[in-house]
Amino acid sequence: MADKVLTVCPYCGSGCNLHLLVDNGQVVGAEPANGRTNEGTMCLKGHYGWDFLNDPQILTARLRKPMIRKNGVMEEVEWEEAIQYTAERLSAIKEKYGPDSIMGTGSARGPGNEANYVMQKFMRAVIGTNNIDHCARVCHGPSVAGLTYSLGDGAMSNSIPEIEHSDLIFVFGYNAPETHPIVARRIVAAKQRGAKIIVCDPRMTETGRISDMWLPLKGGSNMALVNAFGHVLVHEELYDKRYVEANTEGFAEYVDSIQKYTPEYAEGITGVKAADIRAAMREYAKAPTATILYGMGVCQFSQAVDVVKGLASLALLTGNLGKPNVGVGPVRGQNNVQGSCDMGALPNVYPGYQDVTDTAVRKKFEKAWGVEQLPRKKGYSLTEVPHLILKENKLKAYYIFGEDPVQSDPNAAELREALEQLEFVVVQDIFMNKTALHADVILPSTAWGEHDGVYSSADRGFQRIRKAVEPQGDVKPDWAIISEVATAMGYPMSYANTEEIWDEMRSLCPLFAGASYQKMEEQGDVQWPCPTEDHPGTPYLYKGNQFSTPSGKGRLFACEWRPPQEQPDAKFPLVLSTVREVGHYSVRTMTGNCRALRQLADEPGFIQISLQDAADLNILDGEIVAISSRRGHIMARAQVSDRVQQGATYMTYHWWVGACNELTADFLDPVSKTPELKYCAIRLERIADQ
Ligand code: SF4
Repeated sequence: MADKVLTVCPYCGSGCNLHLLVDNGQVVGAEPANGRTNEGTMCLKGHYGWDFLNDPQILTARLRKPMIRKNGVMEEVEWEEAIQYTAERLSAIKEKYGPDSIMGTGSARGPGNEANYVMQKFMRAVIGTNNIDHCARVCHGPSVAGLTYSLGDGAMSNSIPEIEHSDLIFVFGYNAPETHPIVARRIVAAKQRGAKIIVCDPRMTETGRISDMWLPLKGGSNMALVNAFGHVLVHEELYDKRYVEANTEGFAEYVDSIQKYTPEYAEGITGVKAADIRAAMREYAKAPTATILYGMGVCQFSQAVDVVKGLASLALLTGNLGKPNVGVGPVRGQNNVQGSCDMGALPNVYPGYQDVTDTAVRKKFEKAWGVEQLPRKKGYSLTEVPHLILKENKLKAYYIFGEDPVQSDPNAAELREALEQLEFVVVQDIFMNKTALHADVILPSTAWGEHDGVYSSADRGFQRIRKAVEPQGDVKPDWAIISEVATAMGYPMSYANTEEIWDEMRSLCPLFAGASYQKMEEQGDVQWPCPTEDHPGTPYLYKGNQFSTPSGKGRLFACEWRPPQEQPDAKFPLVLSTVREVGHYSVRTMTGNCRALRQLADEPGFIQISLQDAADLNILDGEIVAISSRRGHIMARAQVSDRVQQGATYMTYHWWVGACNELTADFLDPVSKTPELKYCAIRLERIADQ
């Protein structure tokens, strides 16, 4: 009989608890456990996403030994040589060009919070720079910036289970069935209880199909639509005047900003009928409890932070905050992207969202870490890296930990060129990936299932992940590798286990101070804020309408709509938006190495196009087509769909063959530096016509 090891699924921010079934040292299955967010259910990735751990065929692709590039060829070496070489090269570059010439990443995937804590500590205390960032920059970076401005915390205000009990769910640019199947179940359950569902999405999604109202806005028109929603709430006097007066600031400026965004004016920009804009807001305002859920359809635009603030303003106007079953929910995509942010793998904050420019905070970390002076200025963002290398010659080394930016970031060709120009690239991961092709050193680490730690679910829940099997190959936990490099660079760093790291982190972070391993063990999880040992954690934020902003009030915000940066033209007449596929996760480092999931969907990826465009271009469903943008060319399988509007196309970013980030553009939101992955101009052709 197999042993059961309780852990957390590594494939999305839903944070489902599961048991790994272990027999004779191998994982042989998984079954759902009764976690707070999943209550004994899970999706196909939870059921089948473990077989990369011990499939003998797949294990040949696993990184099992450190490697160093020697005379242009990667050679396996012993750990001692790899650590020493990495430390010497980083020290030399730091000495020659200064600490800010080195960039590092955290990892929102398998490693866990403790490894992220250690990585940001390494960059700050050992390298001496705040140049630490991670892939939240290409997804929910705007949520962190926008919600911190509006409400004070860059996280979901309420909890995943509460969604089911809301009277209205307002879904904006978010497709839960593909990204968070267990959240989708909550939406369906809410519908079955009588909740109204309103969906704003250019494409008819699965959530759109069960909605009461689908508002098919044109891609790139989010801000105009959100402004018009505000206009209806204010001008039809649907907003909660008493709540706004008591708990918000900026109302007069807000009203000025939305003045011209009548529903009729917004219809001209968004394509959504004025009557539908009005109807949607009348429903939203009258619901006793209403929840906004949003995703990449909000965040991956160059005006994303503004839209996040605008959505938060709708909740503030209607008093849908500070109580159960309401709120604003940026549903974090990757399993631990909330955690990597929590742990300060960001260029502007230490763990616990403590500002790197705050002198008192900095002194606290200097004392705790035994460092005379920590860096004073904010670091670089991940998405600025290509520009910083190619145009400004500012970066010389890159320590990439548990990420594959060549697959996940926009304009892959430019990023490859930038990596080639660097003097030193370290890649720390579990499988070979596209970024590792540019590495000077590869440091192989343990995978999910092979190490302990904590993940943060999308709704601020700290949960324990547990080691189920012995690691494959000569690999080490991420936190141990980073600690060894730090020690070799002259900063002794050593921890006995992940709990020791966690306790050090807690001692420095008032938000997380009471979230001990023991409490997670007893309660199942602990949602932050959890300031003291006797505090149980916080299912919903802003009780008593006390916001975490400087004034304690929610900040209303609206501004002019700006169109996306690259518009279609005669040469590139269609618009590409990147999306997700339910069976796979992120850059497929793990799911691409799971047989069951690969059988469900595999290379090459598809491009969804409308019936009209397919007819105009003479393209058949299933046909391989050529796709080009100003940045690259790929091939993919056409998927002709009545869900797609004319002029729009969609591709998932998971596929190694036909990778859509060869096409995407690196225009950034000016505040969050998040790329406009939801909008770039492309051309599509039949292979036979080329
Ligand atoms: Fe749950 Fe997400 Fe894992 Fe599916 S992928 S089992 S929804 S955590």
